[in-house]
Amino acid sequence: MQKFAETDRQIFRFPVAFRNDATLYSGQTDFSPGVRDACKMSKVQVLRLAKIVFVGDCGVGKTCLINRFCKRIFDSNYKATIGVDFEVERFDVLGVAFNLQMWDTAGQERFRSIASSYYRGAHALVVVFDMTNLLSLAHCHQWLEEAMTANCRGPKPLVFLVGTKKDLMGPASQKMVEAQAVQMSKELGAELWLLSACTGDNVLDFFFRLTALNFDRSVLRELERDKVDIKIGYDFVSPKRPVKIAEKNKSKRNNCQGQSDCKI
Ligand code: GDP
Ligand code: MG
Repeated sequence: MQKFAETDRQIFRFPVAFRNDATLYSGQTDFSPGVRDACKMSKVQVLRLAKIVFVGDCGVGKTCLINRFCKRIFDSNYKATIGVDFEVERFDVLGVAFNLQMWDTAGQERFRSIASSYYRGAHALVVVFDMTNLLSLAHCHQWLEEAMTANCRGPKPLVFLVGTKKDLMGPASQKMVEAQAVQMSKELGAELWLLSACTGDNVLDFFFRLTALNFDRSVLRELERDKVDIKIGYDFVSPKRPVKIAEKNKSKRNNCQGQSDCKI
């Protein structure tokens, strides 16, 4: 394993949302209290991994977006993704190693039946549409529904709505599409981003925000789990404590076992 992430993959400051009126996570402007402390005191040592699933019609730009970020390239020749592909990108967040595992799915109808098995255990869903094609925006409801159904057990994934090909939009058409995308982000309960894999506009900002939100959630969950463990220990040494609490905590822990969690 690399000792440190590359310098442009290190996050110390919490990235801001694209628009504060088009996100469920607008309240989150910094790492949660406790997360910074835990990282500073090296309490967080497990290598973490977040599974990010990209969905959307074929041709909207999912593969180009991932390639722009991971390989720093843009290829204007269209090659359809077959089935599913994935890339892993290493970050250091507050000095702690964190891997983003990006699952790039094919948008074709014939892969839809197998796709749902790849959606499972996602920590975040990125629903992608093409800003020059409003039909691809309209299809986002269905894409999210399918991906959510596969993740109905376990914690709800973070959801992002991403419009690509911003470079092809004039100011007036961008304004019109952006207004519709804001509305859609509210309907989906998703955080909106508009970007271009061609010019790179907003690409880094989007991936940094995605990573920071996932990292924060992952560490918080670990801190919560530690608290549960301490309580169980207390129940064990004090027989007067009602058994019910220990049972409740036990079932909470069991509920977590079925999902792929942020640790590997
Ligand atoms: P996917 O099927 O969703 O993975 O779509 P691709 O990433 O393969 O992209 C489909 C086509 O859109 C390709 O020809 C890309 O060159 C083009 N494309 C993707 N992103 C952008 C972008 O941001 N700007 C422009 N101008 N073209 C893009
Ligand atoms: Mg593709």
